[in-house]
Amino acid sequence: MPRTNPAPRALQTRLLDWFDRHKRDLPWRRHAARNDPYRIWLVEIMLQQTRVPVAIPYYERFLRAFPTVGKLARAPVEQVLRLWAGLGYYQRARHLHQAAWKIVREHRGRFPRALDEALALPGVGPYTARAVLSIAYRKPAAVVDGNVARVLARVFRLEAADVTTRGRFQELADRLVSPKRPGDFNQALMELGSTLCLPRIPRCGACPLEGLCEARRAGLERTIPRRQRARPRPRLTLSVLALRQDGRLLLVREPGLFSGLWHFPYAPGTTPRRLARSYGAAGVSHIGTLRHQTTMRDLVLRVYAAKARSSAAPMRGKDSRSKKRWVHPEQIQQMAVGASTRRIAALVERV
Ligand code: SF4
Repeated sequence: MPRTNPAPRALQTRLLDWFDRHKRDLPWRRHAARNDPYRIWLVEIMLQQTRVPVAIPYYERFLRAFPTVGKLARAPVEQVLRLWAGLGYYQRARHLHQAAWKIVREHRGRFPRALDEALALPGVGPYTARAVLSIAYRKPAAVVDGNVARVLARVFRLEAADVTTRGRFQELADRLVSPKRPGDFNQALMELGSTLCLPRIPRCGACPLEGLCEARRAGLERTIPRRQRARPRPRLTLSVLALRQDGRLLLVREPGLFSGLWHFPYAPGTTPRRLARSYGAAGVSHIGTLRHQTTMRDLVLRVYAAKARSSAAPMRGKDSRSKKRWVHPEQIQQMAVGASTRRIAALVERV
């Protein structure tokens, strides 16, 4: 079937007019924040795995604590992780902190303007680099994320394409991006994908591209792009130890699954009794099982309570990065801990 591709100018005009009238009022789009590469970078990292309403309070808290790249670079990583706690995918926070250091050391505290330099920063991939460069510096760098790929697949009726063939979409987006307003063009396309051109039921009646959209014209807007079957995620079962001593609980920080965060002692592939013994405790009782998702896997956390013989419970292993702390349960919420540790602490308090 012949296909009439919409001309870039027509698409740009409709999209940017719509964006000017309907863009959401978000903290990072206001005044000084609008062209500040640090803030744009920060929010792009936050939004990688987090929805906008969830990210807003984190963004505001983070900026109050670290108003500049320099302040972020000089902060202890534990403070960064504490402010990130609850957002998940903690590698993002660690990378942000490392990248801030690199920006201070190698780029005089300013997010680099060149794509290759931006891509050399920890945690900055093509999408983030292009978003910052286009929005903060008006570089004509198109971004492609899942939302953009879906809109393009529909507008250009790319039936055979699936949203993982990013190279093809990147080429297309590069041809379409507005040279005068690349940042707004990118944001408009992403916003259209997240507010109107929704995965299952697109709201075509309100869409500025309806008259240009090939999928809509052919009545295929709900079937393009082809859906991917979700791959099953690996599952890991862990024994987790809630070790008590005088009303306090033992948290540890050690390399591994929760690297950089405080967490309850755990061990894959060992019995709870052996785990308790390795921390100088005898006798364990199962108090509950939690299911938890991390970036890479589904966790099944079998939680055991035990009483420590003394607060001098030893650390397992000899890794010098390992640390331990006895804390009162209410302190846990103020520490750099992940959501699973908070949930375990709540479970321990209930029993
Ligand atoms: S007309 Fe419908 S399918 Fe086409 S881009 Fe707009 S919302 Fe998406």
